Amino acid sequence: EDARELLLSRIKDVADYPKPGVMFKDITPLLADPEAFSALTDALVELAGRYGATKIVGLEARGFILAAPVAVQAGIGFVPVRKAGKLPGATLAQSYELEYGTAEIEVHAEDLSAGDRVMVIDDVLATGGTAEASLSLIRRAGAEVAGVAVLMELSFLPGRAKLAPALGDAPLDAL
Ligand code: 5GP
Repeated sequence: EDARELLLSRIKDVADYPKPGVMFKDITPLLADPEAFSALTDALVELAGRYGATKIVGLEARGFILAAPVAVQAGIGFVPVRKAGKLPGATLAQSYELEYGTAEIEVHAEDLSAGDRVMVIDDVLATGGTAEASLSLIRRAGAEVAGVAVLMELSFLPGRAKLAPALGDAPLDAL
């Protein structure tokens, strides 16, 4: 509907970034438009309610920007999932495959616990590797995955299929 068109109109295609052959989806025009950013936040808050989320996990770095206002508006806690080596406390770590090599993400172990229903927010679902690794962290922390919400799903990549086993019955919503 209207919100979807507004959001789409504020995402810019940037050719050959970060490397030749890649069409990068740039969300900075959306962030700079208060009406669009607010429509996105409202849609994510509604999903948080539908999921029955008790914690919001944002994935570094653009996921932080989208997730923080959702956590505030929904009145629930925000938990950052960061690239390895950035969190000062005791962490759980999960590595995952990239096109070339591997990456690792971490969460503070004490930020999630049994009984938490966690909503994961990121800007883009591409191969699904980052989101899948975040679901492992959430479960290893003893918490439950309530759902995954992204602004955009690159449907020409098999991200949704890759994430499906890890999602189980939890929903994946792309706005
Ligand atoms: P995946 O792990 O699903 O392959 O990649 C998803 C991660 O890479 C997300 O954290 C997302 O921010 C970033 N990403 C991959 N492609 C794009 C893109 O075209 N635009 C933006 N904004 N982020 C991307």
